[in-house]
Amino acid sequence: MTMAAPEPFNVLWLQSGGCGGCSMSLLCADTPDFDALLRDAGIRLLWHPALSEATGDALLALLDDCLAGRVRLDALCVEGSLLRGPHGSGRYHLLGGTDRPMLHWVQDLARVARYTVAVGTCATYGGITAGGPNPTDACGLQYEGAVRGGALGADYTSREGWPVINVAGCPTHPDWVIETLMSLAAGLWGPQALDALGRPRFYADHLVHHGCARNEFYEFKASAEKPSDLGCLMEHMGCKGTQAHGDCNMRLWNGTGSCTRGGYACISCTEPGFEAPGHPFHLTPKIAGIPIGLPTDMPKAWFVALASLSKSATPARVRQNAVADHQVVAPAIRKTTLK
Ligand code: SF4
Ligand code: SF4
Repeated sequence: MTMAAPEPFNVLWLQSGGCGGCSMSLLCADTPDFDALLRDAGIRLLWHPALSEATGDALLALLDDCLAGRVRLDALCVEGSLLRGPHGSGRYHLLGGTDRPMLHWVQDLARVARYTVAVGTCATYGGITAGGPNPTDACGLQYEGAVRGGALGADYTSREGWPVINVAGCPTHPDWVIETLMSLAAGLWGPQALDALGRPRFYADHLVHHGCARNEFYEFKASAEKPSDLGCLMEHMGCKGTQAHGDCNMRLWNGTGSCTRGGYACISCTEPGFEAPGHPFHLTPKIAGIPIGLPTDMPKAWFVALASLSKSATPARVRQNAVADHQVVAPAIRKTTLK
Protein backbone atom coordinates (compact mmCIF):
# COMPACT_ATOMS: atom_id res chain seq x y z
CA MET A 1 0.00 0.00 0.00
CA THR A 2 1.42 3.40 -0.93
CA MET A 3 1.13 6.25 1.53
CA ALA A 4 -0.35 9.50 0.24
CA ALA A 5 2.14 12.37 0.27
CA PRO A 6 1.35 14.81 3.07
CA GLU A 7 -0.43 17.97 2.00
CA PRO A 8 2.02 20.85 1.52
CA PHE A 9 1.90 23.81 3.88
CA ASN A 10 0.55 26.62 1.71
CA VAL A 11 2.10 30.07 2.15
CA LEU A 12 0.79 33.24 0.55
CA TRP A 13 3.05 36.32 0.74
CA LEU A 14 1.68 39.82 0.25
CA GLN A 15 3.51 43.15 0.39
CA SER A 16 2.15 46.46 1.54
CA GLY A 17 3.79 49.61 2.94
CA GLY A 18 7.45 48.69 3.12
CA CYS A 19 10.66 48.83 1.13
CA GLY A 20 10.78 45.20 0.05
CA GLY A 21 13.94 44.71 2.08
CA CYS A 22 12.51 41.79 4.00
CA SER A 23 12.02 39.88 0.73
CA MET A 24 15.57 40.78 -0.29
CA SER A 25 16.73 39.46 3.06
CA LEU A 26 14.70 36.27 2.61
CA LEU A 27 16.58 35.53 -0.60
CA CYS A 28 19.81 35.50 1.45
CA ALA A 29 18.59 32.42 3.33
CA ASP A 30 21.47 30.09 4.02
CA THR A 31 20.89 27.73 1.10
CA PRO A 32 22.09 27.37 -2.49
CA ASP A 33 18.56 26.38 -3.56
CA PHE A 34 15.76 28.46 -2.01
CA ASP A 35 12.97 26.52 -3.77
CA ALA A 36 14.35 23.20 -2.55
CA LEU A 37 14.68 24.53 0.99
CA LEU A 38 10.95 25.22 1.14
CA ARG A 39 9.96 22.13 -0.83
CA ASP A 40 11.97 19.81 1.40
CA ALA A 41 10.21 21.28 4.43
CA GLY A 42 6.82 20.59 2.85
CA ILE A 43 6.18 24.29 2.22
CA ARG A 44 4.50 25.45 -0.98
CA LEU A 45 4.84 29.14 -1.77
CA LEU A 46 1.48 29.83 -3.39
CA TRP A 47 2.48 33.32 -4.48
CA HIS A 48 5.05 35.99 -3.78
CA PRO A 49 4.99 39.37 -5.55
CA ALA A 50 8.64 39.21 -6.59
CA LEU A 51 9.23 35.48 -6.93
CA SER A 52 6.08 34.30 -8.72
CA GLU A 53 5.30 34.54 -12.40
CA ALA A 54 1.55 34.65 -11.89
CA THR A 55 -0.01 38.06 -11.94
CA GLY A 56 -3.29 39.80 -12.78
CA ASP A 57 -6.24 37.42 -13.19
CA ALA A 58 -4.23 34.38 -12.10
CA LEU A 59 -3.43 36.02 -8.76
CA LEU A 60 -6.98 37.21 -8.24
CA ALA A 61 -8.27 33.70 -8.94
CA LEU A 62 -5.84 32.36 -6.32
CA LEU A 63 -6.99 34.90 -3.74
CA ASP A 64 -10.61 33.98 -4.45
CA ASP A 65 -9.76 30.29 -4.07
CA CYS A 66 -8.18 30.98 -0.70
CA LEU A 67 -11.13 33.04 0.48
CA ALA A 68 -13.62 30.41 -0.69
CA GLY A 69 -11.66 27.57 0.93
CA ARG A 70 -10.85 25.84 -2.38
CA VAL A 71 -7.17 26.35 -1.57
CA ARG A 72 -6.19 25.92 2.07
CA LEU A 73 -4.32 28.98 3.30
CA ASP A 74 -1.92 27.72 5.94
CA ALA A 75 0.14 30.85 6.43
CA LEU A 76 -0.60 34.38 5.30
CA CYS A 77 2.69 36.30 5.34
CA VAL A 78 2.47 40.08 5.13
CA GLU A 79 5.54 42.25 4.57
CA GLY A 80 5.17 46.00 5.09
CA SER A 81 2.77 47.95 7.22
CA LEU A 82 -0.88 48.39 6.34
CA LEU A 83 -1.89 51.84 5.16
CA ARG A 84 -5.23 52.90 6.64
CA GLY A 85 -5.33 56.39 5.11
CA PRO A 86 -6.76 58.52 3.81
CA HIS A 87 -9.45 58.87 6.46
CA GLY A 88 -9.59 55.17 7.25
CA SER A 89 -10.41 54.19 3.66
CA GLY A 90 -7.14 52.30 3.03
CA ARG A 91 -7.09 53.69 -0.49
CA TYR A 92 -3.47 54.83 -0.33
CA HIS A 93 -2.67 51.26 -1.32
CA LEU A 94 -5.00 49.44 -3.71
CA LEU A 95 -4.18 45.92 -4.85
CA GLY A 96 -3.49 46.37 -8.56
CA GLY A 97 -6.48 45.60 -10.79
CA THR A 98 -8.98 45.29 -7.94
CA ASP A 99 -9.78 48.85 -6.90
CA ARG A 100 -9.75 47.39 -3.39
CA PRO A 101 -7.45 48.44 -0.55
CA MET A 102 -4.76 45.96 0.40
CA LEU A 103 -5.91 46.59 3.96
CA HIS A 104 -9.24 44.90 3.17
CA TRP A 105 -7.64 42.02 1.26
CA VAL A 106 -5.40 41.31 4.23
CA GLN A 107 -8.27 41.55 6.71
CA ASP A 108 -10.33 39.08 4.65
CA LEU A 109 -7.49 36.64 4.05
CA ALA A 110 -6.43 36.75 7.71
CA ARG A 111 -9.90 35.47 8.59
CA VAL A 112 -9.34 32.23 6.65
CA ALA A 113 -5.61 31.77 7.33
CA ARG A 114 -4.54 29.07 9.77
CA TYR A 115 -1.65 31.35 10.82
CA THR A 116 -0.93 34.99 10.05
CA VAL A 117 2.72 35.99 10.01
CA ALA A 118 3.89 39.62 10.06
CA VAL A 119 7.28 39.71 8.31
CA GLY A 120 9.49 42.61 9.40
CA THR A 121 8.98 45.49 11.79
CA CYS A 122 6.75 47.44 9.37
CA ALA A 123 4.26 44.57 9.40
CA THR A 124 4.63 43.87 13.12
CA TYR A 125 4.58 47.30 14.77
CA GLY A 126 4.39 49.88 11.95
CA GLY A 127 8.14 50.40 11.61
CA ILE A 128 9.79 52.92 9.32
CA THR A 129 6.60 53.44 7.30
CA ALA A 130 4.77 54.64 10.40
CA GLY A 131 7.58 56.98 11.46
CA GLY A 132 7.34 60.75 11.76
CA PRO A 133 3.91 62.28 11.19
CA ASN A 134 2.76 59.02 9.56
CA PRO A 135 0.72 60.64 6.76
CA THR A 136 -0.51 57.30 5.41
CA ASP A 137 -1.76 56.18 8.84
CA ALA A 138 0.42 53.10 8.62
CA CYS A 139 0.26 50.43 11.31
CA GLY A 140 1.27 46.86 11.96
CA LEU A 141 -0.98 43.86 11.55
CA GLN A 142 -1.81 43.60 15.25
CA TYR A 143 0.17 46.41 16.82
CA GLU A 144 0.58 50.14 16.51
CA GLY A 145 3.98 50.62 18.06
CA ALA A 146 3.86 48.71 21.34
CA VAL A 147 0.07 49.00 21.62
CA ARG A 148 -2.09 46.10 20.49
CA GLY A 149 -4.65 46.89 17.83
CA GLY A 150 -3.41 47.66 14.35
CA ALA A 151 -5.02 46.53 11.11
CA LEU A 152 -6.53 43.30 12.44
CA GLY A 153 -7.42 44.44 15.94
CA ALA A 154 -6.19 43.48 19.39
CA ASP A 155 -8.43 40.41 19.64
CA TYR A 156 -7.64 38.88 16.29
CA THR A 157 -6.75 35.21 16.23
CA SER A 158 -6.14 33.05 13.19
CA ARG A 159 -8.12 29.89 12.44
CA GLU A 160 -5.72 27.88 14.63
CA GLY A 161 -6.31 30.33 17.48
CA TRP A 162 -3.02 32.21 17.22
CA PRO A 163 -2.44 35.96 17.39
CA VAL A 164 -0.33 37.43 14.61
CA ILE A 165 3.16 35.93 14.71
CA ASN A 166 5.50 38.91 14.72
CA VAL A 167 8.79 38.12 12.98
CA ALA A 168 10.14 41.58 13.80
CA GLY A 169 13.37 43.01 12.37
CA CYS A 170 14.25 45.63 9.78
CA PRO A 171 14.92 43.71 7.72
CA THR A 172 14.04 40.52 9.44
CA HIS A 173 16.63 37.73 9.36
CA PRO A 174 15.89 35.17 6.63
CA ASP A 175 16.36 32.27 9.06
CA TRP A 176 13.80 33.77 11.45
CA VAL A 177 11.20 33.61 8.68
CA ILE A 178 12.22 30.19 7.42
CA GLU A 179 12.40 28.67 10.91
CA THR A 180 8.99 30.14 11.77
CA LEU A 181 7.37 28.68 8.65
CA MET A 182 9.10 25.32 9.09
CA SER A 183 8.06 25.14 12.75
CA LEU A 184 4.45 25.93 11.87
CA ALA A 185 4.46 23.44 8.97
CA ALA A 186 5.80 20.73 11.28
CA GLY A 187 3.34 21.62 14.06
CA LEU A 188 6.18 22.11 16.54
CA TRP A 189 5.00 25.19 18.39
CA GLY A 190 3.04 25.25 21.63
CA PRO A 191 1.49 28.13 23.54
CA GLN A 192 4.87 29.31 24.87
CA ALA A 193 6.37 29.91 21.41
CA LEU A 194 5.86 33.70 21.34
CA ASP A 195 7.06 36.44 23.67
CA ALA A 196 4.91 39.24 25.12
CA LEU A 197 5.22 41.22 21.86
CA GLY A 198 4.24 38.27 19.68
CA ARG A 199 7.81 37.50 18.51
CA PRO A 200 9.04 33.92 18.15
CA ARG A 201 11.05 33.21 21.28
CA PHE A 202 13.61 31.05 19.47
CA TYR A 203 15.27 34.30 18.44
CA ALA A 204 13.63 36.93 20.65
CA ASP A 205 14.78 35.32 23.92
CA HIS A 206 18.32 36.44 23.06
CA LEU A 207 19.91 39.88 23.05
CA VAL A 208 21.93 41.28 20.17
CA HIS A 209 24.73 41.69 22.74
CA HIS A 210 25.00 37.90 23.07
CA GLY A 211 27.94 36.82 20.94
CA CYS A 212 28.96 40.32 19.85
CA ALA A 213 32.62 40.33 18.83
CA ARG A 214 33.08 43.55 20.87
CA ASN A 215 32.25 41.89 24.18
CA GLU A 216 35.75 42.22 25.65
CA PHE A 217 35.58 45.98 25.04
CA TYR A 218 32.15 46.07 26.69
CA GLU A 219 33.43 44.22 29.76
CA PHE A 220 36.07 46.90 30.33
CA LYS A 221 33.92 49.78 29.10
CA ALA A 222 36.56 50.46 26.46
CA SER A 223 34.49 52.44 24.01
CA ALA A 224 34.65 53.40 20.37
CA GLU A 225 34.79 57.16 19.95
CA LYS A 226 34.33 57.43 16.20
CA PRO A 227 33.11 55.28 13.31
CA SER A 228 35.53 52.44 12.47
CA ASP A 229 36.89 52.18 16.03
CA LEU A 230 36.97 48.61 17.34
CA GLY A 231 35.63 49.37 20.82
CA CYS A 232 32.18 48.83 22.28
CA LEU A 233 29.56 51.03 20.61
CA MET A 234 27.30 51.46 23.63
CA GLU A 235 28.82 54.40 25.49
CA HIS A 236 29.08 56.88 22.60
CA MET A 237 27.88 55.38 19.30
CA GLY A 238 24.25 54.55 20.10
CA CYS A 239 24.42 50.74 20.39
CA LYS A 240 21.32 49.17 21.97
CA GLY A 241 22.51 45.60 21.68
CA THR A 242 22.24 45.10 25.45
CA GLN A 243 18.52 45.88 25.25
CA ALA A 244 17.46 44.70 21.77
CA HIS A 245 15.98 41.24 21.41
CA GLY A 246 17.47 39.09 18.65
CA ASP A 247 20.17 36.48 18.08
CA CYS A 248 21.90 38.53 15.35
CA ASN A 249 25.38 37.92 16.76
CA MET A 250 24.80 34.20 17.24
CA ARG A 251 22.88 33.49 14.03
CA LEU A 252 25.03 35.60 11.75
CA TRP A 253 23.75 37.29 8.60
CA ASN A 254 24.94 35.75 5.35
CA GLY A 255 26.89 33.37 7.56
CA THR A 256 29.40 36.01 8.70
CA GLY A 257 27.95 39.42 9.53
CA SER A 258 25.86 41.50 11.88
CA CYS A 259 25.39 45.24 12.37
CA THR A 260 27.95 45.46 15.17
CA ARG A 261 30.45 43.28 13.28
CA GLY A 262 30.08 45.68 10.35
CA GLY A 263 30.89 48.64 12.60
CA TYR A 264 27.34 49.89 13.06
CA ALA A 265 25.48 50.29 16.32
CA CYS A 266 22.49 48.06 16.94
CA ILE A 267 19.47 50.35 16.56
CA SER A 268 17.07 47.79 18.10
CA CYS A 269 15.11 47.22 14.91
CA THR A 270 13.20 44.31 16.43
CA GLU A 271 11.56 46.58 19.01
CA PRO A 272 8.37 48.62 18.59
CA GLY A 273 9.09 52.31 17.98
CA PHE A 274 12.74 51.81 16.99
CA GLU A 275 12.17 54.08 13.98
CA ALA A 276 11.71 57.17 16.15
CA PRO A 277 14.04 56.81 19.17
CA GLY A 278 14.10 60.54 19.95
CA HIS A 279 17.85 60.83 19.32
CA PRO A 280 20.22 60.32 16.36
CA PHE A 281 20.74 56.61 15.74
CA HIS A 282 24.52 56.91 15.93
CA LEU A 283 24.71 58.81 19.24
CA THR A 284 24.10 57.53 22.75
CA PRO A 285 21.73 59.80 24.69
CA LYS A 286 23.04 60.46 28.22
CA ILE A 287 22.15 62.25 31.41
CA ALA A 288 25.12 63.45 33.46
CA GLY A 289 27.39 61.36 31.25
CA ILE A 290 25.49 58.10 31.92
CA PRO A 291 23.71 56.40 29.00
CA ILE A 292 19.94 56.58 29.37
CA GLY A 293 19.39 53.15 27.86
CA LEU A 294 21.00 50.77 30.32
CA PRO A 295 21.44 47.04 29.75
CA THR A 296 18.26 45.01 30.17
CA ASP A 297 17.83 43.54 33.66
CA MET A 298 20.56 45.75 35.18
CA PRO A 299 19.70 48.36 37.82
CA LYS A 300 21.26 51.77 37.17
CA ALA A 301 23.33 51.82 40.38
CA TRP A 302 24.93 48.48 39.50
CA PHE A 303 25.76 49.68 36.03
CA VAL A 304 27.40 52.86 37.30
CA ALA A 305 29.44 50.92 39.88
CA LEU A 306 30.44 48.24 37.38
CA ALA A 307 31.37 50.79 34.71
CA SER A 308 33.63 52.75 37.01
CA LEU A 309 35.30 49.58 38.33
CA SER A 310 35.75 48.23 34.78
CA LYS A 311 37.22 51.46 33.48
CA SER A 312 39.76 51.52 36.30
CA ALA A 313 40.86 47.98 35.43
CA THR A 314 41.00 48.24 31.62
CA PRO A 315 44.16 46.63 30.25
CA ALA A 316 46.24 48.98 28.09
CA ARG A 317 45.83 46.62 25.13
CA VAL A 318 42.03 46.85 25.29
CA ARG A 319 42.08 50.62 25.82
CA GLN A 320 44.33 51.26 22.83
CA ASN A 321 42.59 48.84 20.48
CA ALA A 322 39.18 50.30 21.36
CA VAL A 323 39.97 53.58 19.60
CA ALA A 324 41.87 52.10 16.64
CA ASP A 325 40.46 50.75 13.37
CA HIS A 326 42.62 47.64 13.57
CA GLN A 327 44.30 45.73 16.38
CA VAL A 328 47.36 47.73 17.42
CA VAL A 329 48.30 45.66 20.47
CA ALA A 330 48.13 41.86 20.40
CA PRO A 331 47.25 39.86 23.53
CA ALA A 332 50.26 38.84 25.61
CA ILE A 333 51.24 35.17 25.53
CA ARG A 334 50.58 33.46 28.85
CA LYS A 335 51.39 29.96 29.99
CA THR A 336 48.00 28.27 30.35
CA THR A 337 49.06 24.91 31.77
CA LEU A 338 49.64 24.08 35.43
CA LYS A 339 53.04 22.48 34.83
S1 SF4 B 1 10.79 46.02 8.04
FE1 SF4 B 1 12.48 47.29 7.19
S2 SF4 B 1 13.37 46.01 5.55
FE2 SF4 B 1 11.32 45.14 6.02
S3 SF4 B 1 9.92 46.16 4.58
FE3 SF4 B 1 9.93 47.42 6.46
S4 SF4 B 1 11.50 49.03 6.09
FE4 SF4 B 1 11.84 47.38 4.58
S1 SF4 C 1 28.81 47.01 20.55
FE1 SF4 C 1 26.71 46.80 21.39
S2 SF4 C 1 26.24 44.61 21.19
FE2 SF4 C 1 28.47 44.83 20.97
S3 SF4 C 1 29.33 44.54 23.04
FE3 SF4 C 1 28.98 46.76 22.79
S4 SF4 C 1 26.89 47.08 23.63
FE4 SF4 C 1 27.10 44.87 23.24
